[in-house]
Amino acid sequence: MINYIQNKKNGIRIIPFGGLGEIGKNMMAIEVDKEIFIIDCGIGFPGQQVTDIDFYIPDFSYLVENVERIKAILVTHGHEDHIGAIPYLIKNMGLPIYASSLTNGLIRVKLKEHGLAAETELNDIEPGVPIKIGNVEIEFFRVCHSIPDAMGISIKTPLGKIIHTGDFKIDHTPVDGKPTNFQAMSTVAGEGVLLLCSDSTYSENEGYTPSEFIIEEAFNKVIGEAKGRIIVATFASLISRMQQVIDIAARYDRKVTIAGKSMINNVKMAKKMGYLNIPDDMLIPLDEATKIKDRRIVILATGAQGEPSSALTRIANSDHKHLKIKKGDTIIVSASPIPGNEKAISKTIDNLFRQGADVFYNKNSQVHVHGHASREELKLMISLFKPKYFMPIHGEYRHLVAHARLARRMGVDKDNAFVIEDGDVLFLTNESGEVVGNIGTELVSVKGNKISSH
Ligand SMILES: [Zn+2]
Ligand SMILES: [Zn+2]
Repeated sequence: MINYIQNKKNGIRIIPFGGLGEIGKNMMAIEVDKEIFIIDCGIGFPGQQVTDIDFYIPDFSYLVENVERIKAILVTHGHEDHIGAIPYLIKNMGLPIYASSLTNGLIRVKLKEHGLAAETELNDIEPGVPIKIGNVEIEFFRVCHSIPDAMGISIKTPLGKIIHTGDFKIDHTPVDGKPTNFQAMSTVAGEGVLLLCSDSTYSENEGYTPSEFIIEEAFNKVIGEAKGRIIVATFASLISRMQQVIDIAARYDRKVTIAGKSMINNVKMAKKMGYLNIPDDMLIPLDEATKIKDRRIVILATGAQGEPSSALTRIANSDHKHLKIKKGDTIIVSASPIPGNEKAISKTIDNLFRQGADVFYNKNSQVHVHGHASREELKLMISLFKPKYFMPIHGEYRHLVAHARLARRMGVDKDNAFVIEDGDVLFLTNESGEVVGNIGTELVSVKGNKISSH
């Protein structure tokens, strides 16, 4: 249901569909001269209280009504909260997708599950190579995050560039060996930035986010000293973390196996595309893993968020087909809880300890660093792009407020930093920016094959 939008001309409209004022289902539309460009299209996870749905997707009603104007879906990176809802959006629309090759690989896995892979146009994008889509020039630039091949996006409009950072941190020693490239970003920043949309997840955190490199030490110690089996639970899309585990497992002469369907699919894809380096004889099927010595195996598993049907939760609840916890097992939960999941994870960890396992998790060991910039990095991004307008994205409301305040302190005009929420329509001209309406987004949930609006 569309509420109202003032009909203003000769400007640019920015419409967030999700991710502003909430964590998850990130999606935004940018309208330049009637052409609509979509950035990301993710899912949101329900909190602890909601048990009867699988996840939320953005409300696409506005886009359904304006489908002929949509030129492309641009995707920053392959995390669920950025790609998970793509199959639901393109089902009847047939929109072309532009992303890095790994991101496209992860999207393809999803499209296959929905029977949409054959009919969907996926375009692999290289950072630093501008492309023309519709009447607009678009350029992706590399950023560091907790998944390889993450990118920010620059959209060149007649009023100046719109920069979307995607999820990012600044990392000089990332696992994939591709540190933050300031030179490339400052090149993108040239010619003037109209609007910067920047990741607000950790805008309350002072200082810098630690590099991915520091996990290496904790993992090396835990895996090196363990005498029995090791189970590492993390996100199915955290490719760089899996690579770290694989490298350390090789160091201690352990084989690796995967528990959890989504992780098996992602590993297969990432290995094929060259994003995961693992010797063929090192990766073994789960049922074979039970036959080799405990001190020779590392099990990578889904379930770092305590998801009910995931491998780790099943193992903790003693209802996994192949794996049962025994004394001497070491478990590493390499993730920090997404808000709302804390209880589920704590319960899983309790159950694992109770059955005699030793558990390492974010509270007792440095087995996880997150992938989002803290305040000093956010400042750097603002000073690098020097935007006229600033819009904090990807965060709950207080994160957006903290980030907007930071931008004002960095010199963005008081009236030019916009804290807006899902559905708001921000209208920008060279003179000013204002919210001119709201598209009236509803809560849309998915349970199995059923999609319902609330
Ligand atoms: Zn992400
Ligand atoms: Zn995200």
